[in-house]
Amino acid sequence: MSHAFPAIRLARHHPLAYGNDSTPKAPPVFRYALHALIVLILTLLTQIGGIAYLVALAASRGWGLRRLPAKFAIFLLCYAGATFTASLAAPIFGRVPLSCVADAADRLVVRSPIYCLLNRNYVTPDVRDLAKALAAHIDKEFPGTVTVALDANFPFLNGFPLLPHLSHADGKKLDFAYYYKDADGAFLNGATRSPIGYFAFEQPAPGDELPCEGRNDWLTTRWNFDALQPLFPAYRIEEQRTSAAIGWLTSEGVARFGLQKIFIEPHLKNALGITDSHVRFQGCRAARHDDHIHIQVE
Ligand SMILES: [Zn+2]
Repeated sequence: MSHAFPAIRLARHHPLAYGNDSTPKAPPVFRYALHALIVLILTLLTQIGGIAYLVALAASRGWGLRRLPAKFAIFLLCYAGATFTASLAAPIFGRVPLSCVADAADRLVVRSPIYCLLNRNYVTPDVRDLAKALAAHIDKEFPGTVTVALDANFPFLNGFPLLPHLSHADGKKLDFAYYYKDADGAFLNGATRSPIGYFAFEQPAPGDELPCEGRNDWLTTRWNFDALQPLFPAYRIEEQRTSAAIGWLTSEGVARFGLQKIFIEPHLKNALGITDSHVRFQGCRAARHDDHIHIQVE
């Protein structure tokens, strides 16, 4: 067998020769550009990941690490450390994490651990209290029901948006999933149609109010993801719990927690018979809100 795959030795000057010091590496400018791109992406996605990457880079250099798995392990350690530190430090600056490890008694759950791994689960204490109170109310009305939270905010810095949600930049915004039932009408506790809770849209029926029909905005986060839609299970919105949640938000939520606005797509607002003035349309340049409910407090 060893003859079938003879070891290939490339001459040191061969352009494919790799792994020895005489090999010309990518010019430094490309390596710097690649590092900068990674820092940018990690920062936009997780806020503190870019800093963790730079610390890991410095540590790898300092310790003379050359192998990619070792460098990657150092990055993971730095990232985990930064994420843990953020959870301790963020409360000093006014934001607290929603927990991704719900116990059995917890009726508020974050849809996926990914939200916490990416530091996208931070809110002000007021919004956390509102979310827990909403979940407790729905559990009281419909015993056993869990309420599902989605994207919140990053841990630090007012004005630093949680993309693609431009407004999730101050800890006072939070998205919830709708409540769903299956095609036979059976309630699906804690379920969402897509694995992360977003992008599986309720499509409007013929004749529904379509405020963005015919527009062709270039600069918009109103993405339809038409090609993805057939992949999602055909759950439908469970009207009773969803209406109860909106009803609580526009009464108790406003009176006790300073809720200011709720965004729901107009066709769903009409279908659910909602007339409260706190429930608004987000505009055509913002994301669709027939896959999630957006709330914000004063
Ligand atoms: Zn939102």
